[in-house]
Amino acid sequence: MRARFWGSRGSLASPGPDTVRTGGNTSCVEVRPDDGSLVILDSGTGIRALGASLDGTAPKRIDILLSHLHLDHLEGLGFFGPLWDRGVELHIWGPPSPTRSLSDRISQYLSPPLFPVRLAEVPAHLELHDAPYEPWMLGSATIIARPIIHRGPTVGYRIEDGGRSLAYLTDHEPALAVDLATVQPEWVSGFEVATGVDVLIHDCQYTEDEYPERAGFGHSSTRHVADFARLAGARRLLLFHHDPNHTDDELERLCDRVSELWNGEVDLAREGEEIAFG
Ligand SMILES: [Zn+2]
Ligand SMILES: [Zn+2]
Repeated sequence: MRARFWGSRGSLASPGPDTVRTGGNTSCVEVRPDDGSLVILDSGTGIRALGASLDGTAPKRIDILLSHLHLDHLEGLGFFGPLWDRGVELHIWGPPSPTRSLSDRISQYLSPPLFPVRLAEVPAHLELHDAPYEPWMLGSATIIARPIIHRGPTVGYRIEDGGRSLAYLTDHEPALAVDLATVQPEWVSGFEVATGVDVLIHDCQYTEDEYPERAGFGHSSTRHVADFARLAGARRLLLFHHDPNHTDDELERLCDRVSELWNGEVDLAREGEEIAFG
């Protein structure tokens, strides 16, 4: 399995000289299971460049796993080249909602006046699915989805392939209402997705000073992500969903702080970088 970041910013795209080392595009991760199939985690603004990189080599089937429907995870979809290719079969998976279908929720953005074309009019063959609670296969990879704590229906994904594993927990506030230092791991949001994982991609939006004013917004602080990585027994941690107000220098300090709090291997998720599993 190979994987690469096309966008690691949270909330709002934030290009410019202060974010050039980590990147300004919002959430998008390309995953290539060993059989060469294409699985994409979220369709933030980073998915535009991912689509362009496929130029002429897009597989016939592409699967996009949406963590949730907040705009920073969806807004690139209309600008993903294969959406406009009649020969592509595009499967979009997302969190089930008790009140509205996935199609209705995506169409709220992909329709006038917010977007010039309706979802039903795009040339690609679209199939939308609620992420199931049972594990399922995409190419050679096994996918596991579980609801996690955030604002509105949100899922975390685990991808296993060829003896490697990746957990994707963007937009996640596991510390809401529990003390991660003392709680039983099985009771913690996201634990089942992340336990013993090789690579954990996790929300690290806030410093410990910033968090108290933003508690309940659905995101984690440096201390929360360190506690969660320890509790999950992750081998490697990549800090994700960078706050748009955090410069590269601030993010590097934030990464150093997580290193102080957790003994494992930790780094920032940087746009354009391949993810090392070994
Ligand atoms: Zn987000
Ligand atoms: Zn969100």
